[in-house]
Amino acid sequence: MRYSQTLIPTTREVPSDAEIPSHQLMIRAGLIRKIASGMYAYLPAGMKSLLKIEEIVREEMNRAGGCETLMPSVHPRELWVQTGRDEDYGDTMARFQDRHGRWNVLSPTAEEVYAYIGSNEISSYKQLPINMYQISFKFRDEFRPRFGVLRSREFLMKDGYSYHATPECLHKTYMKMYGAYKQIFERCGVPYVILEAEAGEMGGSGSHQFTVPCESGEDVIVYTEDSSYAANIEKAAIDPSEAAAERITDAPEEVHTPNAGSIEAVCQMLGTKPEQMIKSLIHSDREGRIIVAVLRGDHELNEEKLSQLLGGEKTEMASEEQIKEFTGASVGFAGPQGLCEKAHRVFIDHSAAAMPGGAVGANKDDYHVKNIVPGRDFPLEGENIQTADIRNAVEGDTHEGKKLLFRKGIEVGQVFKLGTKYSTKLECEFLDENGKRKPCLMGCYGIGLNRIMASAIETNYDDSGIKWPISIAPFEAVVVPIGKKDEAEAGEKLYSELKEKGIDVLLDDRNARPGVKLNDADLLGVPVRITVGRKSLAEGNVEMKLRSESENSLIKLEEAAGKAAELVEKLRSSL
Ligand code: ATP
Ligand code: MG
Repeated sequence: MRYSQTLIPTTREVPSDAEIPSHQLMIRAGLIRKIASGMYAYLPAGMKSLLKIEEIVREEMNRAGGCETLMPSVHPRELWVQTGRDEDYGDTMARFQDRHGRWNVLSPTAEEVYAYIGSNEISSYKQLPINMYQISFKFRDEFRPRFGVLRSREFLMKDGYSYHATPECLHKTYMKMYGAYKQIFERCGVPYVILEAEAGEMGGSGSHQFTVPCESGEDVIVYTEDSSYAANIEKAAIDPSEAAAERITDAPEEVHTPNAGSIEAVCQMLGTKPEQMIKSLIHSDREGRIIVAVLRGDHELNEEKLSQLLGGEKTEMASEEQIKEFTGASVGFAGPQGLCEKAHRVFIDHSAAAMPGGAVGANKDDYHVKNIVPGRDFPLEGENIQTADIRNAVEGDTHEGKKLLFRKGIEVGQVFKLGTKYSTKLECEFLDENGKRKPCLMGCYGIGLNRIMASAIETNYDDSGIKWPISIAPFEAVVVPIGKKDEAEAGEKLYSELKEKGIDVLLDDRNARPGVKLNDADLLGVPVRITVGRKSLAEGNVEMKLRSESENSLIKLEEAAGKAAELVEKLRSSL
């Protein structure tokens, strides 16, 4: 490709909303441009990189037995209503009516459509297993689109779906996909860890997440020092804390806490610390039933863990009216005393149960109660009451006796064993050997192509720009002639030779200053750079430099193409 005939609008300006390196560099290197919040255009160089990622994903999917398909990106809303996900996805899913008044959705993922295909096309166990995938745009009206293409509203996803008659068969395909994902990240040159994960919106029985450890990530990786355990924070199981050796023996005492509806305000008023408070969070399930979560004041409720304990049922914070009706007090004054008996379900976190005692809301406006002892002043077990792990892990927690450590990461892919969640609801069924009708067991496998691209940059850059892994670099080599005459001619010749050798090469034939060209080559992150300058050319040489190194080396002009091809080949085979 010739620079003069393409559009790679590099810039020094960094848009003020670009907070993280990959977002800044993708704009600065002219790979993408923002069209609207969370919506990006891929310009020629960005598209080349995205296509290379797509091809790696496609090859690995095909190698692992996947068959490529393509579903529409507009689905009938009815399918989503049938599985309950029309509600689960909430405002994240975009919906619209067509000219006939029928409701449609913009596909945020495609379990429903694949289960629908299965319901029509699968009839016998003899057809199974089937493993299909697609690479297509998904739309999610993210609450907070940010970080460029890492969390955009429209993005390119590879989503795969498999259908099985037995759990063993599902497991086999699941592990094949797991292996294919490892291959994909390795070939893309992106460092990753594999985490035990919660199934989230997808539902189902088992899941792993592929996460790129890096500071800009929005996910939290929880792991043990020996790496024997690694999980997403939503899943990370915490050892129950030991019960405090000594419990408070003082009697409960009501205290006036006017307007102190938050932990901080109560602490300030009572002169206590959040870890000495016991908070009661009032949630409501889909049917409006009250679920109470009791936690230590400084701990965070883990909604995924809570949902698992409720058999996958989602809950949300109860409304102000619901809280008032249930507790008799405004938000911020709920306490476990007397509420446990009335709630549909109560979950007390292990750490709260282990406390020597603490202050709680009095279920009365502007009052709290001090010296409340778990087990003494409110029950820890009962028909609807249970002590469990319902919080996020924090510094100091352990898993099977090993200290837990934390680091940030970007989720780039996730695989799920869905079981029969979708096949039951959409009647994706088969007849088994005995002629008995059964729902298919399904698996689903998702990977974000744009996220791979941004994560690759996030983990490979320096002050001068991007340092692409060669497999997904927009160009493998760049030829930079500095000068209009002999230099330009030699550059043209090198460019042709490299193309001839099957190298994806950019010729910077712009009429621009040397500094601009060299800086752009570094910003764009092309792995191999060949500079044809007047001084060295006069001696029959060109300068060759790897983006990963700072030293130039002089190579004879006649040998330059061969040497560059060798370097490219070496870089290719390192991935
Ligand atoms: P997140 O928790 O980050 O919102 P998710 O768990 O909802 O992601 P999945 O439903 O598992 O995402 O989708 C599969 C893959 O699609 C993700 O692993 C990620 O790589 C990609 N992806 C999801 N949402 C986005 C987005 N808003 N922008 C870019 N890529 C995305
Ligand atoms: Mg996910």
